[in-house]
Amino acid sequence: MGLTEELVSRALSNVNIEPRNFAAVYVFRGSNDVFKALVVTILTQNTNDKNALRAYENLVKVVGDITPQRLLEVGEDAIANAIRVAGMYRVRARKILELSKVVIERFGGDLSWIKDLPVDEARKLLLELPGVGEKTADVILVNLGKLAFPVDTHITRISLRLGIVKSRNYGEIRSAWMRILKPDPSRYLDVHLRLIQFGREICRAREPRCNVCGFKDACRYYNEVVKRGKNK
Ligand code: SF4
Repeated sequence: MGLTEELVSRALSNVNIEPRNFAAVYVFRGSNDVFKALVVTILTQNTNDKNALRAYENLVKVVGDITPQRLLEVGEDAIANAIRVAGMYRVRARKILELSKVVIERFGGDLSWIKDLPVDEARKLLLELPGVGEKTADVILVNLGKLAFPVDTHITRISLRLGIVKSRNYGEIRSAWMRILKPDPSRYLDVHLRLIQFGREICRAREPRCNVCGFKDACRYYNEVVKRGKNK
């Protein structure tokens, strides 16, 4: 059985999305501000979303409104102290300052006009910013209502197990999901978030809970590895 949109909806219908477990989306929804979402994304790299959000909220307490100008004013020590909870706070503080500097020098401190660009141009521009990779760019793009499907480590693992791709190639995984789902940014965002939560709770890196999974019949890993193991 192939993976269809209907099956994806059914299999993910019980997955509960708590907005605070998705720091970048949470901050973007609350602010509608590309720069703020980029800052919180730097805080999420190599840590969990809860700590990243706590660090971001501490930063707001110290800095006030998070703008490139304000961050350059307060400087590295104040930023590093505020974001300690996320870990690697010196490296992150420097990255945040580098981003702030580039946004001011190249774009006069304002990224809001990115939303008016076609998706490919907006992606190209975002990828030129320091600290912004494919996933971060796609998170911003889909939140801006553009057709993009961000792929993280959970979605990579799930896609490989389901058998919808054969490699970890980012673009290949993104295209596979965009082919399965109807072209609708809010649908892409919803499935992206549900898949991440599904990867945290069900299709875990270790010991996936296949017995309670709605993808079983269509899942390559389940049919080729788990089921065969049971039949031995
Ligand atoms: S059946 Fe198992 S391996 Fe396949 S998607 Fe579900 S939890 Fe993951």
